[in-house]
Amino acid sequence: MGAIPASDEHLDVLVVGGGFAGVYHLFELRRRGHNVKLFDAAPDFGGIWRLNCYPGARVDSELPLYGLSFPEVYKTWNWSERYPGFKELRRYFDHMDKVLNLRKDCRFNMRVTASHWDEANSRWNITAGPEGKETHVTAKNVIFCMGFASKVNFPTYPGRENYKGTMHHTGLWPDGLEAEAFKGKKVAIIGSGASGVQCTQEIGKHADSLSVFIRTPNLCLPMAQMKMSADVQEAFKDAYPDIFEKRKKTFAGFHYDFDYDDWKRHTPEQRRAFYEEIWAKKGFHFWLETYVDVYYQKDCNRTAYDFWQEKTAARIHDPKKRAFLAPKEWPHTFGTVRPSLEQNYYDVLNQENVDIVPVKEQPIESFTEKGIKMKNGEEKQFDAIILATGFDTHTGGFQQIDIRGQNGVPLTKKWGDGCNSFLGLATAGFPNMFFLYGPHGPTAYSNGPSTVEIQAEWTCDFLDYMRNKQLKSFDVDPKTEEEFTKHNDDLSAATLFHDSHGWYMGRNVPGKKHQALNFTGGIPLYVKELNESKDDGYKGFVMA
Ligand code: NAP
Repeated sequence: MGAIPASDEHLDVLVVGGGFAGVYHLFELRRRGHNVKLFDAAPDFGGIWRLNCYPGARVDSELPLYGLSFPEVYKTWNWSERYPGFKELRRYFDHMDKVLNLRKDCRFNMRVTASHWDEANSRWNITAGPEGKETHVTAKNVIFCMGFASKVNFPTYPGRENYKGTMHHTGLWPDGLEAEAFKGKKVAIIGSGASGVQCTQEIGKHADSLSVFIRTPNLCLPMAQMKMSADVQEAFKDAYPDIFEKRKKTFAGFHYDFDYDDWKRHTPEQRRAFYEEIWAKKGFHFWLETYVDVYYQKDCNRTAYDFWQEKTAARIHDPKKRAFLAPKEWPHTFGTVRPSLEQNYYDVLNQENVDIVPVKEQPIESFTEKGIKMKNGEEKQFDAIILATGFDTHTGGFQQIDIRGQNGVPLTKKWGDGCNSFLGLATAGFPNMFFLYGPHGPTAYSNGPSTVEIQAEWTCDFLDYMRNKQLKSFDVDPKTEEEFTKHNDDLSAATLFHDSHGWYMGRNVPGKKHQALNFTGGIPLYVKELNESKDDGYKGFVMA
């Protein structure tokens, strides 16, 4: 792409993306008097819940954690379920739109395709919209709020284009395609992350037969979904401010935290009682309220795995399925690949119409016209194949936009051999640009809105500071960035997450650099580091 044509529309800030981070910035920056607009490629608000609308898609954080803390929003909204599904999450975004009066400053179906730094004028020249109908704007600052999962990851087996049946990726799901559409069909699902687990639960109830291709079993935890009445929520609304404050002070941004004392202080009997207690709470308690040592010491982790295995194996009837889904020998350390919350996953896998294809033992060769060919020569035929194979997380979304910083250097080039940043918010050579809930933030190690609010409050204060001091541009000091990136890698290397096989470390996408993509020190340390920079005149940034 050549130079972006001049534009008559000049903004203080362009926000890219209409999920939680985008909504927060639009509302807050506008309130503070900045001239701000929001563009989103999707037809409406909702971020991840626009494209991830597969059957059963719902959030794994319980109410009211998965929401913004603006009183205008939570005082006038009640959820119908403890863990809301995507349709209700979209309605929640509609509600935010209404009470925060957002839409008038938004343009939808407006995919940002290019953003080039204009050194002479200290601003970004931006192109958005479909080919042939592009819009150009200039913005002093650009804030990318695309989330960590805006680029899907397709499996690399050849022949995908040859398949003649119905094939969809969970991350690009057609709006309105419900589980009932699979009634009477022979269906395959590839993948068993959160998306695969949720799809399996719903589609397994309707399909004539369902084959779930699983490479690594998910170490799922029981969700304990429940209907929520408005009365119950209203009765607790006075406590919401404390809950929202609390989520800024715990490792993962929930309202509960790890046990930071030495796990060895407990006898095996005491440990068992402790595990029983946090297991009984359901949800992520067994993951995030456990000993912190679970994530630093393998022998401690093994006790958590063994407990999980015992509980889960008891729910699986068929010995072969049991041995694969909840093996005595662990497939990996517990919790270092994201566990999913399940409602009836194991019950659906128990059904006779559902079989498991263990992909490591029975490797896939290719897609064919009618289905999936296995390496042993067998062809399995399906009416529909669902790819629940995840995302090129954290950095993938940035590859879909032609972002060029100082001296025209593309971001893809700068991050070609791994990403670097300061505070998971900005990267050197790309002035006046922030990214939220992406690389090096607490991101996927946290509840989304918790991290979003912490980061967005900081970036809004930063932009006020720039305006008050009449500064034109900011950039990250390259040395600070190098130190921060190493610091984050060191934090990660001390944990068991560092060796995990999945997307937390970039290991799910062939050719991607393996590195700590999330800030691994927990939210309290992250907040401390944000404050240290801010309190010292935004130390680590070069301003002009
Ligand atoms: P994911 O966690 O990356 O899971 C992808 C699955 O596909 C894994 O089971 C993976 O196996 C498998 N896979 C990938 N490539 C494969 C291949 N070539 N052949 C066979 N299997 C393959 O992706 P996801 O389930 O979409 O979830 C991603 C994240 O998005 C979640 O962890 C969560 O943070 C977020 N999410 C959240 C929710 C929620 O809150 N409820 C719902 C959906 C997504 P391996 O493990 O062996 O690599």
